[in-house]
Amino acid sequence: AGKSDGKGQYRFFDPSLYHQIKSRTLLKQHLIEAIERDQLQLYYQPRVDTHSGQLCSMEALVRWIHPEQGVIPPLDFIPMAESNGLIVRIGELVIAQACAQLAQWRAQALPLVPISVNVSPKQFSHGGIHRHLEAQLARHQLPASLIEVEITESAMLGEHESILAQLEALRALGVKLHVDDFGTGYSSLSQLQKLKMDVLKVDKAFTSQLGLSTEGRVFFQAIVSMAHALGMTVVAEGVETAGQLNILRDLGCNEVQGYYIARPMPAQDMAGLLQQLPSGKGQVHPEHLDQ
Ligand code: C2E
Ligand code: MG
Ligand code: MG
Ligand code: MG
Repeated sequence: AGKSDGKGQYRFFDPSLYHQIKSRTLLKQHLIEAIERDQLQLYYQPRVDTHSGQLCSMEALVRWIHPEQGVIPPLDFIPMAESNGLIVRIGELVIAQACAQLAQWRAQALPLVPISVNVSPKQFSHGGIHRHLEAQLARHQLPASLIEVEITESAMLGEHESILAQLEALRALGVKLHVDDFGTGYSSLSQLQKLKMDVLKVDKAFTSQLGLSTEGRVFFQAIVSMAHALGMTVVAEGVETAGQLNILRDLGCNEVQGYYIARPMPAQDMAGLLQQLPSGKGQVHPEHLDQ
């Protein structure tokens, strides 16, 4: 290090690294401004019962509504927020926005359907997520059953010990716990059962294999029967075709989510959908949702 690389520059002054650091700092600054200007908004994607088509819940998926760049997807800023600590603030914002949204829909006499929020492992290591959630639920006088928490499989294994107490605290509140992106990590179903996870969300990589190969179907079948034996509900993510939905129904997969049912949509569009439901609960069919 410190030696010339032969192009008249020192290695420890790597201009691309310099620009990376500079742009990362800039992005962090922009993200802080975005938070302050209320540019982080939740989109909602329906999750429906495979057999009845009934709306079971909706997943809150954050987007950065940028005045010039338009809608920026979470993968363009969440990983960065996880590495610079902003994720804690974003996580609180997401929970607060989801609870406020439920309260608003209730005020509009729309049916109350649970919202599931994604929680990053960093929010767990920071601690206090259950206190924040409890405070927001109390603020809007909402039952804990209206919020579900999704944690990726890899996140749970990484910090097993510290996370355990917090999962327990969330469960004590009455929140349902979901394992997100199941199949992409290395956990076993028995480990997940020990953690008392309620719902398995099988990663879309496996859903996309359905109908393409026998192995794909066999794999899914095995997950469904083991999860059911352990008392867990199974959700398939990323359902994009009628064929996949039919196979999942045959396999006894409980619930589905994906573009075939509906894409993630802004709160206003979701309100329109809720309005079409018979009071309390209702059916959501793909035909219903296609504009
Ligand atoms: P995820 O929690 O696994 O969310 C599902 C992702 O799959 C979403 O991407 C959703 O739009 C997409 N998706 C849904 N149906 C389909 C389909 O049929 N086909 C395909 N190809 N994709 C589908 P999105 O919204 O871009 O979010 C990506 C990831 O960002 C999420 O994955 C989640 O890990 C993370 N994320 C989103 N919102 C939050 C948040 O508020 N907090 C945290 N910590 N992470 C979030
Ligand atoms: Mg999720
Ligand atoms: Mg997922
Ligand atoms: Mg994911």
